[in-house]
Amino acid sequence: MNSVIIVGGGIIGLLSAYELDKSGVKVTLIDRQQFGQESSWAGGGIISPLYPWRYPDAVTRLAKLSQELYPALIQHMQQATGLDAEYLPSGMLVLGDYPNENPQAWAAKYDIQMQTVDAVEIQQLEPQINDQYQQGFWFPLVHQVRNPRLVALAKAFVQNTNITLIENQAVTDIISEAGKVTEIRTHESSYQADAYVVSCGAWTSSLLKQTGIDTGIKPIKGQMLLLKGPPGLVKHITLSEDRYIIPRKDGRILIGSTNEDCGFEKDTDPGVKKELLDYAIRTIPALNTLEIEHHWAGLRPGSTKGIPCIGEHPQLGNLFINSGHYRNGLVMAPASARLLSEIMLKKPRSLAEKDYALCDGNHNKN
Ligand SMILES: Cc1cc2nc3c(=O)[nH]c(=O)nc-3n(C[C@H](O)[C@H](O)[C@H](O)COP(=O)(O)OP(=O)(O)OC[C@H]3O[C@@H](n4cnc5c(N)ncnc54)[C@H](O)[C@@H]3O)c2cc1C
Repeated sequence: MNSVIIVGGGIIGLLSAYELDKSGVKVTLIDRQQFGQESSWAGGGIISPLYPWRYPDAVTRLAKLSQELYPALIQHMQQATGLDAEYLPSGMLVLGDYPNENPQAWAAKYDIQMQTVDAVEIQQLEPQINDQYQQGFWFPLVHQVRNPRLVALAKAFVQNTNITLIENQAVTDIISEAGKVTEIRTHESSYQADAYVVSCGAWTSSLLKQTGIDTGIKPIKGQMLLLKGPPGLVKHITLSEDRYIIPRKDGRILIGSTNEDCGFEKDTDPGVKKELLDYAIRTIPALNTLEIEHHWAGLRPGSTKGIPCIGEHPQLGNLFINSGHYRNGLVMAPASARLLSEIMLKKPRSLAEKDYALCDGNHNKN
């Protein structure tokens, strides 16, 4: 395989392009707008699944491999570009006791550093937190990345490679013949390669419908709030009530997020704004005085159990998919890109590819 066209330049497309280019493939990356302006921009950048013990093994394995790959990847891209993605070891504090769940067994199984913390330890870790919390779980090694800066970093990096970058052209048609894609078309042009990848995030199913399959990937809206705070007021990522608080290096604080199954609209809702702010103040009362700087929504590529589709199209031999990362696309991106390139280039696999295979609308085996 000498040439590949990747459709969709979010973090998944960008890192897939990076991995294939590294192996000497001639890559073209196409997006209907500028790269990295959708879910990969809108997210929180926690480099761990939320309540990580609740996910299927397939998600844990991808997340864990990514967590191993991230430090060298970031260092390599930062050195080459001089940009900083703010990849930081924030740690993640999950508040609550979860009596019917077993985070300890999960952590032991996957050799994840995690400790149970009591009220005193919670206060020591996060001095501004509401003192009602009696128990929690502390993940000291969880990092965050400032995702808009990560996509800017990845874009700057690939600009200095052999990858051909095409922005502001939507792919409208996938043309196939005798079980193979022969070209893809935009309104302006058509493009040919040996193989093709669709990594269109929440729009993956819309594009692939014409190839006769239903990936089951659908948009799930998440609303986020950004507060302007002083550096150091909040020290760690905290998670409770299915909401989270993320402190950025410059003091800004992200509050997220909703999980809304309402199609492709990205409207924000004043009721949700109040609900997210109330949650944040209930958890860390000192946030009461901070100015709200921004409120936005993004569309996650929702998939069954959060397991992405990585691999070959069930009917078209040279068409591949890397999509459906749902709530964990930033954490799973490096490993997903690595696995995709291993499958496409027939190299030994880092992970069991069958766990991520797409079976025409039946991607829920695990
Ligand atoms: C509010 C929120 C919070 C989140 N928090 C986290 C978190 O803390 N940690 C984490 O790991 N994940 C998080 N996520 C999830 C994560 O952001 C996504 O899983 C990830 O960004 C998906 O990346 P992607 O490249 O598949 O999709 P996207 O970033 O959406 O990229 C898809 C790209 O495809 C392009 N495209 C679509 N159709 C076409 C077409 N026809 N032709 C050409 N281009 C096309 C789009 O323009 C877009 O650039 C969050 C998401 C949201 C919304």
